[in-house]
Amino acid sequence: MDGSYVETALTDAENAFQDTRGHTAESGLAVTDSALVQLRKACRLLEAARTLRERNGYYTVVIEASFVAVERSLQFYLLDRGHVSAEDLRYEHTRVYRHATTVNLFSEAFADRLTQLWQQNRAEVYYRETVASAEQADAMVALAEAVHRYVLEYASLEHDCVCSSNP
Ligand SMILES: [Zn+2]
Repeated sequence: MDGSYVETALTDAENAFQDTRGHTAESGLAVTDSALVQLRKACRLLEAARTLRERNGYYTVVIEASFVAVERSLQFYLLDRGHVSAEDLRYEHTRVYRHATTVNLFSEAFADRLTQLWQQNRAEVYYRETVASAEQADAMVALAEAVHRYVLEYASLEHDCVCSSNP
């Protein structure tokens, strides 16, 4: 790929992340508070998941977006309450479930079930043991919406949500 059109594309992508002056920002995300950024990302991911699901397909993407929306909703709460720094949450996806138990959002057993669900989905995506189904996509969007709604109610911060349809 070196020296080919792929390298040109890689250089363009690197530049796009290094120099963002004059870029068009995604709506709803132009906020400075790091917790609020995570919440708004969750709102946008849910919106994207719902939109793709309504188009009757893209189950794999809907499932992936739903998992990330769950993660972002939990990150929002942890950051908002000052329980973690953004650095603490950067790398491991399932660590956020563990953090959430320490602030009593849910139990250890609940965190284990979320972790298992995530790992099972990951394994199936990588090893193609099954193909994503409409039922799985529906269930994951519903789960992501439920987590989003619960966190907002728990934090009494519903007004910060920018979902078009209140989840
Ligand atoms: Zn929202």
